[in-house]
Order: sequence, then structure tokens, then C-alpha cells
Amino acid sequence: MSNSDFGLIGLAVMGQNLVLNVESRGFQVSVYNRTTSVTEEFVSAHPDKKLVGAKSLEEFVQSLAAPRKVMIMVKAGGPVDAVIEQLIPLLDKGDIIIDGGNSLYTDTERRDKWLGDLGFRFIGAGVSGGEEGARKGPSIMPGGPASTWDVMKPIFESIAAKVDGEPCVTHIGPGGAGHYVKMIHNGIEYGDMQLICEAYNIFKAAGFDAEELAEVFTEWNEGDLESYLIQITSKIFAQQDPETGKALVDYILDTAGQKGTGKWTIMNAVENAVVISTINAAVEARILSSMKDKRVEASKVLEGPKPKIDEKKKKLVKKVHDALFASKIISYAQGLDLIATMGKEKNWGLDLGKIAAIWRGGCIIRARFLNDITDAYRKNPELSNLMLAPYFTDLLNEFQENWREVVSIATLAGIPVPAFSASLGYYDSYRSAVLPANLLQAQRDFFGAHTYERTDKPRGEFFHTEWPEVI
Ligand code: NAP
Repeated sequence: MSNSDFGLIGLAVMGQNLVLNVESRGFQVSVYNRTTSVTEEFVSAHPDKKLVGAKSLEEFVQSLAAPRKVMIMVKAGGPVDAVIEQLIPLLDKGDIIIDGGNSLYTDTERRDKWLGDLGFRFIGAGVSGGEEGARKGPSIMPGGPASTWDVMKPIFESIAAKVDGEPCVTHIGPGGAGHYVKMIHNGIEYGDMQLICEAYNIFKAAGFDAEELAEVFTEWNEGDLESYLIQITSKIFAQQDPETGKALVDYILDTAGQKGTGKWTIMNAVENAVVISTINAAVEARILSSMKDKRVEASKVLEGPKPKIDEKKKKLVKKVHDALFASKIISYAQGLDLIATMGKEKNWGLDLGKIAAIWRGGCIIRARFLNDITDAYRKNPELSNLMLAPYFTDLLNEFQENWREVVSIATLAGIPVPAFSASLGYYDSYRSAVLPANLLQAQRDFFGAHTYERTDKPRGEFFHTEWPEVI
């Protein structure tokens, strides 16, 4: 067999499916996994495919055509460094290493420098779409030198999802830019999921059963909310539990886990002084959900209204639709603001229109409205906030009344809507020409002589008041 065009290390869910995807585009692929039996089982399960299974890394490296293209798809963190360290003595200068896992972008920057100094080429690529995306076409967010991207482009473009004939992959920027954008993508995914859960919670309090919920989400998926997450939500509501014959969703314990990209997104937003309150609320909602025992205890002593909503169902569906869509716009506005801010800070030369375009297919947050986000940034690449793109301004103006009503109805009924209300709070703060921070500045000057500017004097002139003494 001739030398392989591509090699992949790490044959878990993502690795196996990516290999089958690459192979299906006409490339021969070499594979290696730390546990050899996994490699053997995988290769023997696909006898008709152009796969080369290697028992050792030496064998794996030797089976690749130059310049070697090695994709690492192992657990993020230490394992990626461990694999790279083993590869270094085996590879030649100019060979390309691609880390396709969910690596922290700062690790990617470190590896980019480390490998670059040794004469290797490195790409840190975020891959989204889960198992199915990896197999049929993911959205890929590669970062690294443009010249290395040019070498990888044919393979990446052939395996990526396609929307209107455009592959859902683009060179994001240098160094850690690709993994950074993937991290924010995951933060946005947290926001989308939480917003859907809040809509569900409201409908539950209004007496919707699983069948009605499946209908609502199916209908929504045929309209402007069309997205992968809305689609799978409709399927979830329709899924019966084989044991009880009832809706499976009602038997799933309400405690959610998280792996870290949401947390990393929040930490980065704080460092960059960018508000991502919807994503914050989503991450915190998962944390609160995981405190099941404490919540059960508190539910016995802390009082609130009965979570019951008396609204005409059809009207409520429209109102919640508007609240969900408006909150979703805010969540994307915040996530994209963070990407833009960080891109400028790092001089990554990011193109937000292209980033939105590659999220239209393959990835978990794929949604019809990403076409409109793409359009908004194509029309105005310097857009300061998505809310201010005329199309989205009009939508928010149209939705804001129902959005407020939904947050009010839920709050009065004691139903937690942290992401809906955080989004609305951001919207109202952002559109306020005057905020109560004048009082805040007075407080700061009172206890810390931090000074303040005056409304009746030019900006940049600072004043201090001798405030009365407090004992
Ligand atoms: P995973 O469970 O994150 O990792 C398992 C793989 O890592 C196995 O092949 C394992 O080899 C290998 N591994 C672990 N420690 C190793 C070490 N020290 N040296 C060498 N190999 C080691 O796999 P995954 O779910 O397919 O995800 C792979 C990457 O893609 C991760 O970074 C993940 O966060 C990211 N990702 C996952 C998804 C998803 O839906 N699962 C979606 C997007 C991105 P052994 O078989 O020998 O244990």
C-alpha cells in the first residue's frame, strides 16, 4: 500500500468518525490509538476502507506521505502534550501536526510556539458537530500559520459540512485563534441550550404535555428559529421511555454536567471586560442544577408562588417564541462581541462574517438565523454590536414587549428564567443613555477618593468631593 495522505491519533468517538469522513473523500488514512486493541477493532470493522492501522507510533509515522499530516484527537490537556512529545523525535521538519480536540487556546499558543521553534508546522483546530458531524461533515475552526492552512485546505474543505456549496471551514487566524473561536462557539451553545430549557419550563407550568411540546418545537423548527438544537428538542419530547411508555424526558434527572469550555469562556470574558451575561447565566444554571440535594432541601423552606401559568396556550407560544428569539440574538451579540474584542487585542485579523458563515452547518449551534448574522457582518464588518445591525434592531424592537411579558409572567410565577432575564437586562442596559453609575461613582469617591467626571463639564476632567465623615 502506498503512503497515506493523512494520519489520525486517538480513535475514540470523534477520531473514528473523522477518519471515516476523511477516507470517504478519497484519502488513504493511517490510524493509531494508545490502546492497540482499539486500532485493531476499528480497522477490522472497516475492511473495505483505505485504512492503515499502526501498532506503534513509529509504524504510524513511517506510513505517512511527506509532508506528514498528523491529526491528534485525544483527550484535551496533558494527553495532547504527551502525544506531541512522542511524535517529535519521529517527525521531520515541515511535517504538520493538527490538534483537533477541545484544547484551551492558551495551550494551543504554547504548542504553536514550541513546535514552530522546532521547525514543525502546527494547526490548532476546533471541530464541532459531535459524532454525526465528525462523520458527515463538521464545522471546523482552524488556527495557525496561513501557509500551513493552505496545505491542509483541500482535506479540511472536503470533509467539512457544506451550506449553499460553501464549506463550513475557514482559516480563522494565527496561533490559538481557531481554538479560541471554538471555545466561544461552545459558550454560545451553552446559552442556546439554557434558553430552550427555560422556554420548556414555562410551557410546563402552563400545562403543556410532551406531545404538545414536541408539536411546538417542530413548528418552531419550520420557522425563523430553525436550528439543530430546536430540532433535537422536538425529537426529545417525542421520545417514549420503553420502561414506562411515557415521555422519556420526564424521567431524566435534572442535574447537568459541564466539561470546561463554558467556564473558560466566562473567565476570558471577565479578563477582556466583555459582558456575556446570557452565557454566564447558562453556565451558572448548570452549576445550580448540579446542586440537587441542596435545592431539594431549600424547596422545603424557601417560599415562592406556585409555578402555574394561566395563559392561552397559542398566545403563550408566540410570546415565548419572541422571548427566546430575542434572548438568542443577545447571546450571539455578546459572544461575537467577545470574539471581536479578543481578535483586536490579539491582532488575529478575525472576520466575523466568515466565522458566522462556518457555523451555519455541521456544528451544534447551526441555525437559520446564522445566515442573517453572516449578512449583517458582510454588510458591515465593523459592526459594533449585532443588536445594531438594522435587521436585528427591527427584530428586537418587535420582540421586546413579549419578551418583557414572558420574563414578568415567569418571575411572578416563581419560575427561574436566568438566561431570559440576563439577556433582557443586557438589552435594557445597553440601550440606556443614562445608567445609575453616577451614584456608583459618588460611592467610590466617598470611600476611596476615586474621583468622578461631571455631566456639566468636559469628559476627562476629574473631581473629588470632601464627603461628610461617617463614624
Ligand atoms: P475523549 O474521550 O476525549 O478521549 C479519548 C481518546 O484519548 C482515546 O483515544 C484515548 O486513548 C486517548 N487518550 C487519552 N489519554 C491519552 C494519552 N495520555 N496518550 C494517548 N492517548 C490518550 O475522545 P472524544 O470524545 O473522541 O474527543 C476527542 C477530542 O475532541 C477531545 O478534546 C474532545 O473534547 C473533543 N471533542 C469531542 C466532541 C464529542 O462530541 N465527543 C465534540 C467536539 C470535540 P485510549 O483508547 O488508549 O484510552
